[in-house]
Amino acid sequence: MTVTPWLEPAWQQLNRARLQSRLPHALLLTGSEGVGKQLLAERIVHALLCESPDQQGNPCGQCAACGWLAAGTHPDFLRLEPEEAGKAIKVDPVRSLCTGLGITSHGGRYKVAIVSPAEAMNINAANSLLKTLEEPTANTLLILTSAAPGRLLPTVRSRCQQIQVPLPSQQQAIEWLAAQGLEAEAATDSLLLAGGGPLYALTLHREGAEALLNDSLQQLQAVGEGRLDPLTVASEWQGDALALRLDGWRRWLQWLIRAQLAPADSIAGNMAQKLQTLAESVDCQSLYAFLDRLDSARNALASGLNRQLMLEDLLVRWAAMPTRRQKNVAQGSR
Ligand SMILES: [Zn+2]
Repeated sequence: MTVTPWLEPAWQQLNRARLQSRLPHALLLTGSEGVGKQLLAERIVHALLCESPDQQGNPCGQCAACGWLAAGTHPDFLRLEPEEAGKAIKVDPVRSLCTGLGITSHGGRYKVAIVSPAEAMNINAANSLLKTLEEPTANTLLILTSAAPGRLLPTVRSRCQQIQVPLPSQQQAIEWLAAQGLEAEAATDSLLLAGGGPLYALTLHREGAEALLNDSLQQLQAVGEGRLDPLTVASEWQGDALALRLDGWRRWLQWLIRAQLAPADSIAGNMAQKLQTLAESVDCQSLYAFLDRLDSARNALASGLNRQLMLEDLLVRWAAMPTRRQKNVAQGSR
């Protein structure tokens, strides 16, 4: 079991802590969607539960624990995810998880749990978890993963040791995707649509989501330039793929902000040029404000807000985003 090259530094840090018995009771792995937080978390689980891992933390692959892990039946490993993607993690499963963590381990080693994505926990669930974080049992490790740690309860966040998993360089990511069988152009495009997370890019590619996201990006661009009616786009978007489109929109905003803050880090490739044009024309502060608005809308959506209204509001505001040029003109005319 290996991690991808860009996860290696974070893994080395964790493995050193494991060898020196300095692992905390709770870890928060943060980083972009598809950067490999799960992979890293699972690697820790294997190193902690295998009966004879080597110095590098590689599991032996032959002991009973390794067999149970491969079969997904290890009694000392618990995993908590939303029942459905995009839905909340509720309090009852969190309570069961906490009880499970408190029970003595079967293998006489660690008890480990992964909660992902941690920000999916609703407020009751997060409060319930907090008790376990405040009074941890020996030899337990709770691993939270989150691409949006800002949406976690601050009290939960502060009780975890946070490890930020950085995105690989574009070249590193494309090399990795090429090794998974993607042609250069498909790799570049899917990476861009995924917001830079290679594992998510691979998922998007395999699920054939590129065409849909590419269309969405083009529509956003057209709405931004006044070539397309925001209300038309709103009615088209409210179908099944809404969550995917909104996630995409969020990632593109982050790319735009990053492209403005660090132009040297900007993106290469066909589709990237479209984003680049947007990045040059839209004002950075407006992008931040819009990102907040988009996050609120996504949260509200989970609680049953009217999709059509929410989309119309977002897209009309998107169409009215002040561009740098307008802003300069306005300032110049004062
Ligand atoms: Zn083993």
